[in-house]
Amino acid sequence: VALSGGSGVQVALRIRPLSDAEQEESASVVAHRVDEQMVVLMDPMEDPDDVLRANRSREKTYMFDVAFDCSATQEEVYRATTKGLIEGLISGFNATVFAYGPTGCGKTYTMLGTDTEPGIYVRTLNDLFRAIEETSDDMQYSVSMSYLEIYNEMIRDLLNPSSGFLDLREDSKGEIQVAGITEVSTINAQEIMELLMKGNKQRTQEPTAANQTSSRSHAVLQVAVRQQSRCPDVLQEVRFARLFMIDLAGSERAAQTQNRGQRLKEGAHINRSLLALGNCINALSEKHGNKYVNYRDSKLTRLLKDSLGGNSRTIMIAHISPASVAFEESRNTLSYADRAKSIRTRVKRNLFNVPYHIAQYTSIIADLRGEIQRL
Ligand code: ADP
Ligand code: MG
Repeated sequence: VALSGGSGVQVALRIRPLSDAEQEESASVVAHRVDEQMVVLMDPMEDPDDVLRANRSREKTYMFDVAFDCSATQEEVYRATTKGLIEGLISGFNATVFAYGPTGCGKTYTMLGTDTEPGIYVRTLNDLFRAIEETSDDMQYSVSMSYLEIYNEMIRDLLNPSSGFLDLREDSKGEIQVAGITEVSTINAQEIMELLMKGNKQRTQEPTAANQTSSRSHAVLQVAVRQQSRCPDVLQEVRFARLFMIDLAGSERAAQTQNRGQRLKEGAHINRSLLALGNCINALSEKHGNKYVNYRDSKLTRLLKDSLGGNSRTIMIAHISPASVAFEESRNTLSYADRAKSIRTRVKRNLFNVPYHIAQYTSIIADLRGEIQRL
């Protein structure tokens, strides 16, 4: 399986390994990957005397475009989810990769990774640079990247945090830009990883009741690929594509973190951004619908406006813990991811209609033949 972000949102699901702490408590595992696409979640049913619950099915299966468990390597996850977007990016298609899920389930691991196990950010940039080098057309390419966080509906430059809060502006072409953001155009992978690691340490992390270091900020790595014809005489063709790779804030509900005051406000903003994102994706998926897409609802959706509304290929990588204590959160995450996935199924369903039509035509033709013979 290798996703290329066809029409609509494609969804991958990654189950992280049990943590050391969970292993020490010999936590039971309730989320399993069944095959390349199927995941099963078991209701742990802590109270076996609960007859009502026992009567319900304990197992629920989910299908995704691709499913990973703890045996999947960083390279495998990258290859199956994001690698396929690079070709499109070079030919001028926007793309977006989201890491979704509750805090502590592996979003940052998948996107940023570690020095020894780098994630999607660096692997994508490496392959993008290589692909550009190998492209032997008459175009001249330039790549720039910026790294920002959206926290409490405010934007900060993670490569230059001292620059304060930044604004979104529409440029002369009507594209949304972050005014004054640092743009880096190095192609040295080691340097990029160091920049991103340093930037990630600048992310706002606040302790909450639910988690020691709950990440309430969205981190956005923006990669812009610009290309221009090398020949000075011919009509200048400029192509521009943006890739967003986004480590979303934890999807856990504010209610479960017993938040109050400031924390609750942050929670509300995060839910608002995630909700706005979900609403936009849903509205955009309505093929001929005239549903209004409200990008202005949040900073995140404003920033992604061109990317989501245009020729964007979108991949969501949802993350869950396998442990029974995370059952409720896992169920919430699986059903959110399942809804995002149904967007693509709708597109697919049109394809399934083709044989049906052919079958109908075949029977009409048979009827007409019968009539001809009767004449
Ligand atoms: P999140 O960003 O969703 O809050 P993290 O990526 O920080 O979660 O993951 C929480 C912890 O679990 C980290 O210590 C991380 O290294 C570890 N972890 C997450 N996913 C994996 C994985 N697939 N393999 C190994 N360790 C993982
Ligand atoms: Mg994180």
